[in-house]
Amino acid sequence: MIALTGAGLSVESGIPPFRGPGGIWTRYGEPPMDGYQRFLADPAKAWEERLNPSGPMRELWSALNAAAPNPGHHALVELEDMDVVRATITQNVDNLHRIAGSRRLLEIHGNATLIRCIQCVARFERDEIDFAVLPPSCPRCNGLLKSDTVSFGEPIPPDVLEACSGEADRADCMLVAGTSATVYPAAGLPIAIAERGGDLIEVNPYPSDLSPLCRITLAGTTAAVLPVLVERVRTLRASL
Ligand SMILES: [Zn+2]
Repeated sequence: MIALTGAGLSVESGIPPFRGPGGIWTRYGEPPMDGYQRFLADPAKAWEERLNPSGPMRELWSALNAAAPNPGHHALVELEDMDVVRATITQNVDNLHRIAGSRRLLEIHGNATLIRCIQCVARFERDEIDFAVLPPSCPRCNGLLKSDTVSFGEPIPPDVLEACSGEADRADCMLVAGTSATVYPAAGLPIAIAERGGDLIEVNPYPSDLSPLCRITLAGTTAAVLPVLVERVRTLRASL
């Protein structure tokens, strides 16, 4: 079994969603869909905005800095410790799975706290980078650095994309938690598993487009449902 997680898990840690009621983009307007092209056109300006965020980005950063993992994140780590979940693929960029202690973690949309070289794909912590001259350059290959968060219009980094497909190819079950899995390429992963005859287990307070493909739907928030799932697995194992 592998897990696929999304924004629902972050919302339960106090991070505002992008769309829907109270969503950042609902209130501030949709961001441009060509973010990556804009970054490439003027990386120095993009870095200035990044280092001195305003408006929606400022709000998002303060929410990210204040957020802590919730019982849903901790339950996924327990499922990994119990050898039930082999890998967690997340669409979230908030670093909370990492803070909670997930070991085999694939951040398909990147990690907002990391910086990535668009040339050699190496990732760095912020304090490893010299921002004296913008845009900063890669300590390894001198290539252009950007946030590890995958921008609109930017290809998913090849290393993480390959690792996600590899995990999905070997999985016969996927736990889909806190995501309606509508954004590609992540959305293709559960569909591929279902088409191969694998099982999908969905944890979502509301029915999603994926629900008809799921063998089991557990209606509720991830913070409420996943800890119960951990307890059930533990009880079941103890009785064997
Ligand atoms: Zn590099």
